[in-house]
Amino acid sequence: MSSPVENVVIIGTGCAGLTAAIYTARASLNPLVLEGPLPGGQLTTTSEVENFPGFPHGVDGFQLTQNMREQATRFGTRFESALVDKVDFTSMPRKLFCGDRVILAKTVIIATGASPRLTGIPGEKELYGGKGVTTCATCDGAFYRKMEVAVLGGGDSAAEEALFLTRFASKVYLVHRRDTLRASKIMADRAVAHEKIQCVWDSVPVEVLGVPEGAVRGLRVKNVKTGVETVLPVKGIFVAIGHIPNTAPFAPPLDIDEGGYFIPQPGSQVQTNVPGVYVAGDCSDHVYRQAITAAGMGCAAAIEAERWLAEHHAE
Ligand code: NAP
Repeated sequence: MSSPVENVVIIGTGCAGLTAAIYTARASLNPLVLEGPLPGGQLTTTSEVENFPGFPHGVDGFQLTQNMREQATRFGTRFESALVDKVDFTSMPRKLFCGDRVILAKTVIIATGASPRLTGIPGEKELYGGKGVTTCATCDGAFYRKMEVAVLGGGDSAAEEALFLTRFASKVYLVHRRDTLRASKIMADRAVAHEKIQCVWDSVPVEVLGVPEGAVRGLRVKNVKTGVETVLPVKGIFVAIGHIPNTAPFAPPLDIDEGGYFIPQPGSQVQTNVPGVYVAGDCSDHVYRQAITAAGMGCAAAIEAERWLAEHHAE
């Protein structure tokens, strides 16, 4: 089954996708937004967002994306549930395959986000999101004032999250499965030297405690060299063992780096190696990963798509 040719198809309904929808809808491009398995994106898994400009008293993450969605709808955006599993960008219009369905588009904005990698240990899933297990210190760190917390991982994210959390927490355990951090030297040195950070080397998380109570009350860790298990008396657990960008259906033909993130063309944040195809948000950003930066990239992608259409499909 084929559809009429769309001006712009936006894949994803997180901050990046919804911002692209607002801009392209206001430009009278009648965008079609394809909604995947997590409508609203990662922001909907956060309770309170205190750092999105314009909300001096904070805003509920789910509410924020609902607001963006309403704003996009108001200007004529259409939403449909569809999971893109394959693309053909070799000719115009571009083809997006969703099972048996083929969607045709002059321009495409991919804003499929990234999924935080989780450890899979018992208790993690049950206490994820508002109950003590989280993947975003910037979002949730302020809820752990004067409490002990643990950060899992040894990369730049883990070091950065641990350092950020020292502003609030009374103590930060940095739990890493080896005895040296993978993080860049400057970040690793800072984290290791910080008086509030205690590195728990050669240790893997084994179980999050607190499921019956509905809130984290500890983390059981195991030393991989000695086999000894201990319980860290933490109220918050920040999992920072990397992200999995949702780029698989698009690469190839789109270029991705070794971590799976889209690689924009030199000099652009959003232009891909295929003309008229743009990327925005966490699927191409492993550095900032904030709602506001994703929204900014969505805006940039929308403006680029609009310009491209004006140049190539002026009627
Ligand atoms: P990363 O560099 O892939 O590090 C992931 C860490 O998690 C590693 O230390 C890894 O251990 C550990 N890990 C992975 N799976 C695990 C598991 N199942 N159980 C326990 N530990 C596990 O990821 P990242 O820190 O998110 O960084 C991703 C990229 O973004 C990097 O290129 C990084 O430099 C960049 N980044 C940059 C900044 C910045 O410049 N400010 C900030 C954040 C991220 P091993 O070390 O043993 O493999």
